[in-house]
Amino acid sequence: MLRVAVVGGGAAGLCAARHILSRGKRFAPPVVFELTDNIGGTWCYDERITYDDGRPVHSSMYRDLRTNLPKEVMMFPDFPFDSELCSFLPHHEVQKYLEKYCQSHGIRPHIRFNTVVEKVAPLVLAADDNKEETTWEVTSCDSSGLQKTETFDSVFVCSGHYSVPNIPTVPGIENFKGQVLHSHSYRCADSFSGNTVVVMGAKASGLDISVELAKVGAQVRLSYSGPPLSFPLPDGIQEASLVEAVERDGSIRFQDGSSCPADVLLFCTGYVFSFPFLDAAQLKLQLQDQLLAPLYRHMMPPNFPSLFFIGMCKLICPFPNFHCQVQFALAVLDGSVPLPPAEQMEQEELQEKEQRGVQQRHLMVLQQQQWEYCSMLAAAARFPPLPPAVQSLYKEVWRQRQKHPQNYRRLNYRMIADDRWELAH
Ligand code: FAD
Repeated sequence: MLRVAVVGGGAAGLCAARHILSRGKRFAPPVVFELTDNIGGTWCYDERITYDDGRPVHSSMYRDLRTNLPKEVMMFPDFPFDSELCSFLPHHEVQKYLEKYCQSHGIRPHIRFNTVVEKVAPLVLAADDNKEETTWEVTSCDSSGLQKTETFDSVFVCSGHYSVPNIPTVPGIENFKGQVLHSHSYRCADSFSGNTVVVMGAKASGLDISVELAKVGAQVRLSYSGPPLSFPLPDGIQEASLVEAVERDGSIRFQDGSSCPADVLLFCTGYVFSFPFLDAAQLKLQLQDQLLAPLYRHMMPPNFPSLFFIGMCKLICPFPNFHCQVQFALAVLDGSVPLPPAEQMEQEELQEKEQRGVQQRHLMVLQQQQWEYCSMLAAAARFPPLPPAVQSLYKEVWRQRQKHPQNYRRLNYRMIADDRWELAH
């Protein structure tokens, strides 16, 4: 029986545990390590920004967030949300859903809460047939400070990548007299009423938070690079070019030469990858802010294909993607998907990079390619592919979001067949 360690009890880790448990003949029950006292990861809203021991809170969830995907595409394909719920959910409904998933699949007894994984290291052994076999030493520490090292056949890294803020350098920031924060530590707009807030970044969080701030009467300067936004912004939000520096008098100077005084500088500049429990060089991986490479099938280091990174891709439907990655990974482990030699995996990964022609830092961005990617995993590991309606509804929502970023969440959808959805009223 194969022993698998799962690092993290968020959506990806729960999905891994659910599928491992369903393959009881080949796999021992998993050991899920979770550093907090609850499941859910991102979806486990915490009002605090630091835990009692001073460590930063893992979740970047804010109080009034509603999902940016409808529940019809957000769900694990084998576990629908409650049909009574509207399509775009407040975060606590997603947390409830994950609790139900955990309960239905009997996952909780396999989770070690308040236990942080401190080190994951490969142990390479010579096997009989001149081959090498890798096992994994996982060192964890529980809340009593007890450290333990255990051996596993495989490790699923499900520790998330929306927790460690990416903060670009702003020359002169030491001159800024107001509050500086990152969206990771933003919880709600209440205290910003009447403030001038410079929001840096106009992706999902930057836009959503700007709208929240404008609603409570803050004046928002939304600073970003790229072409002008294709939709009207609500009153109280003004577009601005990139922040260039903070002047000596504390005002913010933008690239177009304009400047303004501000009370708050809010970084909505994304997150960096962080795996403090891994030695990337030892795994022959390059780890930079937004890059982890090479990863065969966006999951496995070619030289250590029993280590799986689940959920690293960006601009995807996360839960369906985890569902596919996990099943593929388990098929690799049980031998039903044979892998090419390490050099070939590296070569294939390189070729894919070249074909896509994207910059290094965008390698993990899948967006439109996610469907082909998930289909390829499903075909290789012989599990049912994602229903085509998931793709078409995702595309429709994306279109609506570009056109009506403030209103798209008002719509409700219903799946009527594997390949059809409709607007619900
Ligand atoms: P996480 O949810 O981050 O879970 C990782 C878990 O690992 C955590 O519980 C953490 O405590 C644990 N952990 C980390 N390190 C260790 C360690 N060393 N030892 C033990 N445990 C560890 N997705 C959507 O589908 N729809 C949305 O609307 C949406 N909105 C989002 C809004 C925000 C603000 C953010 C930040 C993300 C949003 N996402 C959304 C993406 C979301 O992150 C994914 O849906 C999903 O929750 C990611 O799950 P995960 O398990 O990969 O990571």
